[in-house]
Amino acid sequence: MGSDTLQPLRGMSDIRAPDVHLWQHLEREGRRVLHAYGFEEIRTPTLEYASLFRRAIGDTTDVVSKEMYSFRDRGGREVALRPEGTASVMRVVAAAGPELMDGRLYYLGPMFRCERPEAGRRRQFHQIGAEAIGEPNPAADAECIALQLQILSAWGLDGYQLQLNTMGDPDHREALTGGLRDRLRPLLGELCEDCQRRFEANALRVLDCKNPHCRKIVEGVPPLTEWMCPDSRAYFDQVRDLLDQLDIGSEWNPRLVRGLDYYAQTVWEITHPALGAQDALCGGGRYRFSLDSRVIDGVGFAMGLERIIMALKAMNGDPVDHAPRTQVFVVTQHPSAFRENLVLAQTLRLRGVSCGIDLRGRSFRKQMRAADKARAQWVVIRGEQEMEEGTFVLRNMEQGAQESLEMPGLLERLTTVLSIR
Ligand code: AMP
Repeated sequence: MGSDTLQPLRGMSDIRAPDVHLWQHLEREGRRVLHAYGFEEIRTPTLEYASLFRRAIGDTTDVVSKEMYSFRDRGGREVALRPEGTASVMRVVAAAGPELMDGRLYYLGPMFRCERPEAGRRRQFHQIGAEAIGEPNPAADAECIALQLQILSAWGLDGYQLQLNTMGDPDHREALTGGLRDRLRPLLGELCEDCQRRFEANALRVLDCKNPHCRKIVEGVPPLTEWMCPDSRAYFDQVRDLLDQLDIGSEWNPRLVRGLDYYAQTVWEITHPALGAQDALCGGGRYRFSLDSRVIDGVGFAMGLERIIMALKAMNGDPVDHAPRTQVFVVTQHPSAFRENLVLAQTLRLRGVSCGIDLRGRSFRKQMRAADKARAQWVVIRGEQEMEEGTFVLRNMEQGAQESLEMPGLLERLTTVLSIR
């Protein structure tokens, strides 16, 4: 086996303990808050027809044109690893029709983008995302932002910044891009090559170009609201007003546009200063999808878990150990007790107790060390003497106190201290 075979692909990672415990904690807490807002999980395939992403996200976006892992499968179909979660959810909603037209759905899982890996930018990364499908309504946008902030707070993350902008009514997008193009046309020769290309295909993206020279030019451009209809401006005002009402601080960033084509009205991004160049923790916005003659309005967001973990580690150093504790460890002090100890471990596990036991006949000392490593709360010790007496020694590992009990007493005691069935 070559050494390459032992490594994951560049930009992709194995997630092991102790980190995996933090992942599980974030997932658990995220789900808890999402359920409190009435969102239900949806799991869609990781591999989809590439045409879904082309149509839903847009052919000219970087995500589709430069970063998507697409290939022909053995049947010659052009397929792609999902670069984001919204398109697949929209496919499900469009197929389900009225049943899901006011659905509240969330997803959690890996996404794939073949970008140049750097800190905070992976080729496989993980998102928790949510989509509130239904009527365009500023209250839904504000609620979605509140939900996202509550998840961040449940994760113990603060110090982030929420920036908002509006992209206006998607039916009036031409007026917006037209106005922006007219403004930029005299300066076209000064823009970077990428922006010169974007100018025709996706002029809004010029606004968030990272090139310092383009940034300077863009600073002189009026906010997009300049070319928007009064309804779109009023919509944005209402969202900000509702956020104030919910006591949520935000900043209007008139240069904020989102990379994907489907956004309409409110867009937002949450950044964290601890992250460096790739500082976007989460992005969201309102959108309008047209899929297979169905029009779907909705508002949603996606948060990148790798970046959340980077920010948590930057804030707190090594995060709290979220490893689940073993409740009981059964220690066999004499080989004659092993079979009955195995039965005891099984009895406890069947009652839902997390229970460790040594299967290799290791020494008493090594078994006690294993119990410590598993952070066992209680140890049950059984040796020759206990076998003769029909008893068990129960040791409280935190206090060091121990007592001798018969089987019914042991189960009763553990039932009480561990609140088991
Ligand atoms: P986007 O779908 O581009 O709006 O991304 C939403 C969130 O996903 C971002 O704010 C990041 O937290 C995360 N994200 C996007 N691309 C990557 C990547 N290549 N590596 C790690 N996280 C990413």
